Parts: sequence; structure tokens; C-alpha cells
Amino acid sequence: MRLVSLACVPFFFLPLDTRQVAPLIEEVVEAEPESETVPVRRQLAEASEPPTHRAAPSGCSAPPAPGESQSIGRPTRGELTKGRFLRESELIHHVDSDECNYWGTDELVGAIRRAAAAVAAEHPGHRLTVGELSQRGGGDIRGHASHENGRDVDFGFYFVDEEGLPFEPSRFVDVRRDRTAHVGGHELTFDVERNWRLIEALLTDEEADLNIIVVSGRIRDWLLAHARSIGVPDALYQHASRVLLRPRRGRHPHRNHFHARIYCPPSDAECRDRGRVWDWVEQARAARAERLEGPSEAATP
Ligand SMILES: [Zn+2]
Repeated sequence: MRLVSLACVPFFFLPLDTRQVAPLIEEVVEAEPESETVPVRRQLAEASEPPTHRAAPSGCSAPPAPGESQSIGRPTRGELTKGRFLRESELIHHVDSDECNYWGTDELVGAIRRAAAAVAAEHPGHRLTVGELSQRGGGDIRGHASHENGRDVDFGFYFVDEEGLPFEPSRFVDVRRDRTAHVGGHELTFDVERNWRLIEALLTDEEADLNIIVVSGRIRDWLLAHARSIGVPDALYQHASRVLLRPRRGRHPHRNHFHARIYCPPSDAECRDRGRVWDWVEQARAARAERLEGPSEAATP
């Protein structure tokens, strides 16, 4: 199988000493009495930055033209028209990156929101860490070889701290062989349960068809072993094992984030996929079309 060429090395992957970094502070958000939320440590990039709902710079998040998004061309050479902006929310936070680069297709942005909600529904207090998607109109984007037509997104990992509390780093953090990560004086642990839940939610999304998730081979192994250990259906396990890909030799090792891509939405006529379309994706598309349009004539008695 020919794998997709990837080189996701956004600005925030650079070694800390090669860029200016604002002093890091932490905020611990305590649960309200009788609230369903749990305490969560949030590592913020700047003292003035509120913990949620950071506003994008003007012009970045202006409402798009009405109509459905169109992904055009390929992830490595493409465009995005009528895209949708992924805002920060109580479920989603952006890493310290270019706030203008959070545009995606309707399907991708919807899938990210639904996946974040699925994880939070089972594990309250955890927001999904999201890196860049695409620029508003797509095209070349600094630090990425792909991310050009609204179908790619980078996700930070879910972590817990020494006390088992959800921890939100303000940037992507490398995970070591023993599943720990070090940031801001904290020893974090890769939260395999929540990270698997994210993969599962993306794989089973009803509107977007997951194409690939690139992540380090060792993290891939942890996730698949976890899926086995909790007894997920065999089909789901098989789908995950095909979608989760190790980075190609010489590429970014993806020890600090997932790179995810969805297939071309069937409605986007000028969008071009690369590589095979899995049979379960074809089946999901057929089922979706039937829901929208009703059974085909051949299926009608
Ligand atoms: Zn990426």
C-alpha cells in the first residue's frame, strides 16, 4: 500500500530554544459544587489568556459564504472554498499556533466537534487539543506538507497529571517510551483510554469518513492493545489497525500528535483522494446516501 506523504512540522514542534516562548503558567479549574465537571489543569501560554473561548483574530473566523464547503484537489496541493472555522469551546482548545489556520470542510469540523463531545461525555473535564487544520481558502500552509484542502487536522494527546487529573498542555508534547511526558514541571501520562475513545469516535463518525491517522508506531501499538483489552468489536479493531499508520521513515515521528485526514466528501466533485478507499467506507457512504435520499429503486420491492 502506498502511504500518503506527510511532513507535519508546524512551528510549535520546533525545539523550545529556537523560538520565543512566553512564560508558562497554570490554571487549575476547580469543579463547581454539584457540577459534573472535574478539576482540570490547563497550561496556558500567556497570563492574559482566558482558559476558554479565545477569540480568533479578526478576519480569521468571519462567517464563510453560505453554502456547503468544497475540498478541491489533494491535501498536498489543493484549495478549500466555503470552509467552516473550528472555534474554541468548552470541548475544544487550540494549541499555540496560528489562529487563522482552523478552517476545514463541514465534514471535518463537524467530526472534530462530535469526537470531542464523545470523549467529554464519558470523561468530563477533558477538552480536545487541536492543532492546525487549513487556511481559510486552503493552499500552501507554513510548516505542513499537506493540510491544503480542509481535510487534515492535528490533535494533541489526552494526558493526566500525577494526581490523575486531566491536563491540557498549551502545545504538543512528546510522549516517552514509558508513556510519560514532561511539561511545566509536571510528569504527565498518556491517557490511553481517552485517546482510544477519540480514535473510535473518528472512525465511527456518521458524516465524515476517516482516511488515516498517523502516529508513532509505539503509540499505535498502545492504542490497539487497549482496544483489544476492552473487547471492542473485531471489525472496529480491524478498521483501526488499517487507519492508524506509522510515519514513513525520515518523516516527523509523530510522538507528540495525531495527524488525521478524512476522505473526500462525496459531494466535493473536484476533491481527489489518494490510495485505496476501504470497503467499510464505501458501505458507510452507501448507507448515508440511502438515509438522505431514501432506498434506491433496485432496493424497492
Ligand atoms: Zn498534520
